[in-house]
Amino acid sequence: MAAAANRQKQFNLTEDLTCPICCDLFTEPVMLGCMHHFCKRCISTYWRGLQTPVSCPQCRQGFTNKQFQTNYLVTAMVEKVRATTSDSYIKNVEKQLKESLEAHRQRREDFLTVIRRDKEKMDNIKRTGSELQARVQGEFQALHALIAEEEASVLEQLRREQEAALEQQQRHLEAVQEAIRQLENTMRFLHEAATCPDHRALAELPQLRAPVEVAPGPDLDLNAFSSRYMMPLQYITWRKMFKSLKPGPAPVTFDLDTAHPSIHVSRDRTMAVDCDDMAPYQPNSKRFLQCVNVLGAQGFQAGRHYWEVGVGSKAKWDLGVALDGVNRQSRVKLSPETGYWTLRLRHGDQYSAGTQPWTRLQVRCCPQRIGVFLDCEARRVSFYNADDMSLLFSFSNGPRGRVLPFFSPCISDANQKPQPIQLLHYPPPGLTD
Ligand SMILES: [Zn+2]
Ligand SMILES: [Zn+2]
Repeated sequence: MAAAANRQKQFNLTEDLTCPICCDLFTEPVMLGCMHHFCKRCISTYWRGLQTPVSCPQCRQGFTNKQFQTNYLVTAMVEKVRATTSDSYIKNVEKQLKESLEAHRQRREDFLTVIRRDKEKMDNIKRTGSELQARVQGEFQALHALIAEEEASVLEQLRREQEAALEQQQRHLEAVQEAIRQLENTMRFLHEAATCPDHRALAELPQLRAPVEVAPGPDLDLNAFSSRYMMPLQYITWRKMFKSLKPGPAPVTFDLDTAHPSIHVSRDRTMAVDCDDMAPYQPNSKRFLQCVNVLGAQGFQAGRHYWEVGVGSKAKWDLGVALDGVNRQSRVKLSPETGYWTLRLRHGDQYSAGTQPWTRLQVRCCPQRIGVFLDCEARRVSFYNADDMSLLFSFSNGPRGRVLPFFSPCISDANQKPQPIQLLHYPPPGLTD
């Protein structure tokens, strides 16, 4: 609409600035006394050869001389109209409009792309959300199944015990009833014999007098029976469930052959502590010689595994997993690129994930126990504060191939007493069935 109005305005202006003699835009426009305009050349030509008085070709007003005035304002306007109606000007404007249109079109395309990406992201969030939901449900279903199975098993055992006791009691009851029947038969016979004695009856008497014997009934110890089921059932079930947890805490131990000579490992291979002196050692390719490291004896390359490491109030340590094939003879920076997925503590409260460079973590309270979760199929290595099971860090670019639990007790500062790294086993060995 606006464009049409503009064109109309332009058209009117062009008409106003058109010479009535040559019917073209004014060239050197001049104004007569009657205020009408003509090209200087047109009016000069028109008046050429005429005697004064002359007249205006448009309104016929007469003039005593052939005078006219140059109108600079109209000249400027004509120049402007000429410029804006020139082919090159129009082409230029058209070009600009096209470019502007193209820019808008491109911008719109960009926005559409952003919308597509937003929708894709939302789809991804929804898909991941429902996958996680299914996973969580699956984990809890497995737990429910374990509990249901355990409940059924305990109830079945109770039912059997109860039935067996009832059956025994029933058998005793029937035996006593049978004894009563026999007694009553004998009594009837005795009664008949007493009221109408004959020789045959008297001859059988001694046999009839034989007492009817019934074994004493079963003496079910109700107290013992109750005690077997009045137990801390939840705790006992929880202890049993520990064995069925997938993954349950793995009883990882240190592999002595991998320990740096300045690491002392306890006899049961669950404690490792750094010492000032290097112990004599058997040279082998498995042993760390440059860094104060030690590996777990249990390797993993499939499934999901979880283990817990007691770090107590040690001021520095590294732990996680390492590829079986890591170079143990040289000093390397720990990162997934070199085959290590680790968490580390420095200066007692500075926690970092072993990325390159390190990723500093905000950890509110210093965990005494660290949980390491390895999901081989999902290639994920996660670390938890095992005191409250809050997530500390998770590597999603986990290892391919066989890995081993990895530990470094680090070298304690000179003014600090070395403290051990401890591998925690659940339930404690003394409590296992
Ligand atoms: Zn003219
Ligand atoms: Zn006139």
